[in-house]
Amino acid sequence: MKWQNKGHEFDLVGSRFVNPKKIVIYGAGDLGTKLVQTLRFADCVESFIDNDPEKQKNLCFGKKVESVIDFMKKPAGEFIVVVAMSAKDRVWPMQQLRVFGYREGENLFDIDAFLNYYLPIYAFYGWNKLYFHSVGITVTTKCNLRCKGCLAFIPHNHNRKMYDVEMFKESLDSLFQHVDYVDIMQLSGGETFLYPQQEELIEYIGKNYRDKINVLYTTTNGSILPSDSLCESIKRNCVTVILDDYSDTVPQNIDKMKKTIEKLEQYQINIDINKVDEWIDLAPTTTDNSHLTEEELVNYYTSCCQPFIELFENNLYSCNYAQYAMRAELVEDSENDRIDLRTISSASELLEFRMGYTEKGCLEMCKHCSGYWAINKNKVKPAVQGE
Ligand code: SF4
Repeated sequence: MKWQNKGHEFDLVGSRFVNPKKIVIYGAGDLGTKLVQTLRFADCVESFIDNDPEKQKNLCFGKKVESVIDFMKKPAGEFIVVVAMSAKDRVWPMQQLRVFGYREGENLFDIDAFLNYYLPIYAFYGWNKLYFHSVGITVTTKCNLRCKGCLAFIPHNHNRKMYDVEMFKESLDSLFQHVDYVDIMQLSGGETFLYPQQEELIEYIGKNYRDKINVLYTTTNGSILPSDSLCESIKRNCVTVILDDYSDTVPQNIDKMKKTIEKLEQYQINIDINKVDEWIDLAPTTTDNSHLTEEELVNYYTSCCQPFIELFENNLYSCNYAQYAMRAELVEDSENDRIDLRTISSASELLEFRMGYTEKGCLEMCKHCSGYWAINKNKVKPAVQGE
């Protein structure tokens, strides 16, 4: 999206959240309780609606749980209601509230729309808080695998590095000068367990910013055994390890992966095993979008819906893949594609940048990129090894 009214792009949508601003969560199940954690940046949850009489007997995260019939005794529109249920289960609850007088997009939201779009606007206009869905930090571009379709473009990167931990610490300080809460922070690579300063970085985040981060992840391909002291640090700072399971394409590492899992379990570390059927190939060296007009390229970027932002050298990069391409010298660095956290002029500008606004309305890399899942047709088998 191209900035047209910098600092005020969301004023109209945001005005819906000034009053009322407290949220009632419809559904005290898994999704509802996860949503409470995500909303920890402010005292913004009023109560729950749940029609299970057992759940109504107890508080949920210290909040009252009541039936929808009891909730309807209050005037419609007194709260913002977020229906925290699966797409199938939320059909009737959404209808109950519509009929009762709640309006979708104003004071009634399903959890997907709320989390994927409205929440940062709600936090900013309702509570004066800058909430970011995610921030990525790529600690190293060194890796012990050679995945052909690597989304960090490491096979193209001939200047692979372990980045200085002091640079990340300074960048985190710059970030949290402005940002109040990050739902997901992910440390990735390359292979993060090769990064010699991983423990120091985790300790720094744990000591200074852990209460401003809901979920802290570190990723691994599972083939490097983390040291005892790194495991202790991961456990102490409540880091979840995303372990990419490449057993189909890298069978020679299965035993190493099992040993890594065993060790992480021994330290009672949360592990999220990630096994997928497909990757997308962003194809940065073979994609040519030069036939698109300027306006079409803006629409291409907007429809890509790439959700990840990258923190590097005191800058936030609008798209992590564009930033990886820059590190691999596939594209030139462009001031349009990043925002310097030391010189931003307003919090609303930072919110807008995080939501996808830039001066040009697209990024340098979009000219050479097949895009994220919403627009990408190049599906490839995960972790197929190259030379
Ligand atoms: S098209 Fe590629 S570079 Fe552009 S935003 Fe999407 S993933 Fe990033």
